[in-house]
Order: sequence, then structure tokens, then C-alpha cells
Amino acid sequence: MVAHLPPMEYRRLGSSGLQVSVLSLGSWLTFGSQISDDTAEDLMRTSYEAGMNFFDNAEAYAHGRSELVMGKLLKKFDWDRTTFLVSSKVYWGGDKPNQLGLSRKHVVEACNAALKRLQVEYLDLYFCHRPDKNTPIEETVWAMNTLIQQGKVLYWGTSEWSAQQITEAYSVARQYNLIPPTMEQPQYHLYHRDRIEQEYKRLYSTIGLGTTIWSPLASGVLTGKYSSGVDEGTRLARKGLDWLKNNILTEENIRKTELLKPLAQELGATLPQLAIAWCVKNPNVSTVILGASKTAQLQENIASLATVPKLTEDVINRIEEIVQNKPTESEY
Ligand code: NDP
Repeated sequence: MVAHLPPMEYRRLGSSGLQVSVLSLGSWLTFGSQISDDTAEDLMRTSYEAGMNFFDNAEAYAHGRSELVMGKLLKKFDWDRTTFLVSSKVYWGGDKPNQLGLSRKHVVEACNAALKRLQVEYLDLYFCHRPDKNTPIEETVWAMNTLIQQGKVLYWGTSEWSAQQITEAYSVARQYNLIPPTMEQPQYHLYHRDRIEQEYKRLYSTIGLGTTIWSPLASGVLTGKYSSGVDEGTRLARKGLDWLKNNILTEENIRKTELLKPLAQELGATLPQLAIAWCVKNPNVSTVILGASKTAQLQENIASLATVPKLTEDVINRIEEIVQNKPTESEY
């Protein structure tokens, strides 16, 4: 057992019957790439012992190696299959024409390949990693429904789809009596709020959309560790991630992060704990997917659950005054 950690909370994934821990573990850039398999093992074990039941993956992560590592570890742990959820995402499978996108061919082939790499008989969650303008949504909905009928997938969803695209998928499913999408995986953190708080607002009640949100720490910017530069060994120092650094490590975000620091201290929390607790506080977030390259980071992040009750209305208002980015009333 992990000592001193608050009890895990479980939420329904949207209006489905599935219970997902409010914190979960992701593997982007880490598993099969940045970190050793031993560290990956430590991260998964620490998560599971803290009550986290969802492990997120994708065919694209480290070109499939992330799923291979996770599969090997799931086999080794031999946890009761009813006690955890594992996902994959389809879109970026390779460079050839039919290795990309959401055609029936790629959705089915990517699922079969992910099942092999992850060494499981079914995926609990299967996401369309991005919308595909070259495939009719109807084709993708039918493909997902087929996989569910075959028992290879339990719940399917989307990632970074617009409210309109999600609504279209839902309508197609309703029209043909197919299983509609259950969840969406969008970016959500203190500096990126519009989709979760505004664009999807109506979908939570109308179609019962669940959300598995990513990058709660804005790739580490919200830990404050980049405020005085980019140290070797950190994510934003990595080769090939200039696009991410340019996008997220802005002067404005650094300035706001520095202003959040004393507030976190006042609450007896660290900056990452404040940032993660703020995401958990949103009831439309089903689970916050944590990323970590070290076990100590993960332990610090899991302890953010103790900060959630400290986010009173007054504290939330003070955060709003610092970030100054609350979405305005929605037209959706
Ligand atoms: P975060 O924004 O939380 O970033 C995680 C990274 O920040 C870590 O890998 C680590 O990087 C650093 N970090 C984390 N905790 C701490 C800490 N306490 N102190 C200092 N540094 C810390 O999340 P991710 O961007 O990793 O996203 C989480 C998951 O979401 C992914 O693993 C993936 O499963 C999913 N995802 C989905 C996407 C999609 O399109 N659907 C896109 C992106 C992510 P380092 O130590 O290297 O600096």
C-alpha cells in the first residue's frame, strides 16, 4: 500500500455504468521511450495500489512500444481483469495510406494489433484519437459497434473531436440502433479550458458524455519547474518537442504559474497538486490522466486528492483572478 495517500474516488464515466478512478495513469512519451521498463512497472504498481483503475495508451505511443511495455507488465502483475481498465486509441498507426485514420479497415486492424501488444482479450476503452475528415463518421460508428458486438471493445469514444462531430456520431448511432460514443479525451488544464467548460457543456446532460482529460499539468509547465529555464532531462528539453514547448511554455503561462505558487503554499500543497486538484474539482471530468517520468512525481500528484476539499469558492475565485481565462457564457 502507498502510505499517507487519501482514498481514491471513483466516478461514472459519463452516464455509463462504468466506474473510473478520478486519477488514472497515461503513457504518452514515457512508456517504451523516455523511461525504463522498471520505472514503468513502478508507476503502474504505485497507481494500482493507490486505487487507480485506468491505464491509458494508444497505438501511436512510441510506435506501439508503449503498448508492448504495458502489455508485458499487465501479464507480469496478473491483476484480476475485473479490477482495471486499459485503453488504446486509433488514428496514427503508420505511414502507409491504410495505417492512418478511422476507416473500418484501420479501426479494426488497429484494435486487433493493440489487443496483441497489450496481451488482453478486450479493450475497456477505445478512442478515435482525432477526427478523420477522409472517413464518413457513419463508417467509424459502425466499425466501433462491430468491435463491441465482437467483445473486443467495451466502450468507445473520441479524442479532440468538436461538439458537433461528437453529436453527429451520437445521432448516427441512434439512427441505426448502434452503441453511441461514451467518452471524449480532451486536453484540460488551468491554461486550456474552453472545450471542457464551454463547447461540450450541453453534451454532459444531453448525451451523458464522460471525459478522460489529458495534460493536467500542461506538460509540466504547471509544476513551476520551467519558470527559470528548461533543465536537461525534462520533457520540454527533449528533441522533437519544440512544437510543444513553443505552444505551452509562453511568458504568460510562466507568469501565471509564478502567481499560483504562493496560493498553493498557503493551502499546504505543491503547484502540481493545486493544478491537478483544480481539474478533479470539475464534476464533468470523469478522470484526470496523470503523466509521470518518476515514481516520486506520481506520488506527489496522487496526493493532490487531499487538496481538492481545500478548493473553496474563495480559493477558486482567487485562482480565476490569476489565470483570467474563464470561458464566457456559451452559445452551444
Ligand atoms: P501532464 O501535463 O501532467 O505532464 C506530465 C509530465 O510532467 C511528466 O511526464 C513529467 O515530465 C512532468 N511531471 C509530472 N508530474 C510532475 C511533478 N510532480 N513534478 C515535476 N514534473 C512533473 O500530462 P501528460 O501530458 O503526460 O498527459 C497525461 C496522459 O494523457 C498521457 O500520458 C496520455 O495517456 C494522455 N494524453 C492524451 C492525448 C490525446 O491526444 N488523447 C495527448 C496527450 C496526452 P518530465 O519529468 O519528463 O519533465
